[in-house]
Amino acid sequence: MRDDFRISIKKTLASRVGYRCSKCGCTTAGPDTSQTGSVNIGVAAHITAASPGGPRYDEKMSSEDRSDLSNGIWLCQSCAKEIDDDEVGFPPTKLRELKKEAEQAARDALPGELARHAVNGEFDVLAKAFDLLEKPEDWRASDSQEKCFYCVHEPAYTIREGENIKHDFRETWMDTFPKPFGNSYYIQVFWNGTPLYRTTFVACDEWRFYLPLPQPDGEGGWYLRSDSIAYRIARLYRQYRPLDETLHRCGIQLRDSDPFS
Ligand SMILES: [Zn+2]
Repeated sequence: MRDDFRISIKKTLASRVGYRCSKCGCTTAGPDTSQTGSVNIGVAAHITAASPGGPRYDEKMSSEDRSDLSNGIWLCQSCAKEIDDDEVGFPPTKLRELKKEAEQAARDALPGELARHAVNGEFDVLAKAFDLLEKPEDWRASDSQEKCFYCVHEPAYTIREGENIKHDFRETWMDTFPKPFGNSYYIQVFWNGTPLYRTTFVACDEWRFYLPLPQPDGEGGWYLRSDSIAYRIARLYRQYRPLDETLHRCGIQLRDSDPFS
């Protein structure tokens, strides 16, 4: 007997992370070639296994809890295999952490979300970081740490590159590169050493291009929001290549959106 998830729970898990893998951030859904359907390479993985003998199985849990939304995490197929092959590296606590961070990232990617927080008085330190990033010239690269920036007016704010998430990261917008794959990395904004915000960047074509993960537009295209903190951070990293040129080459649209709509 397996305590599988109902279809509605699988859909909710996927929607709550914007159909991106909660571990590597790749998109898991897109249009198929027939122009009428879609392909899905995502799976609703169990945090603790659906049946005895499976990874992280917890005999103390009820059948109901095992098939509950709280016991699922949306992943791409390769990450789902990796977490099951490496139970020690991915205990339930680690998976719940990844799930929480991926849901927060999906929320932050919603149009106007940052501005809304600012208006509501929430996350005001993050809203301040967004404001400070309006002027990339106010930020300096750190001498002591590679790919670390600090704000000259507010040195409590720093931006750093974090761990490598995935080698061989591949999405269709990378098709124009001679080697259409790259590495994905977390970029984090810190305030006095406290992480405020995390986003995913992709280094491709042997580091000649470095840009935020674009969002799928649902029609096979890709876009980045010009009012997003990720786009502002990207302007700090532009020494790798003019950002707009890269976006144009990859067919990624830059979309304005009314932050207060
Ligand atoms: Zn993945």
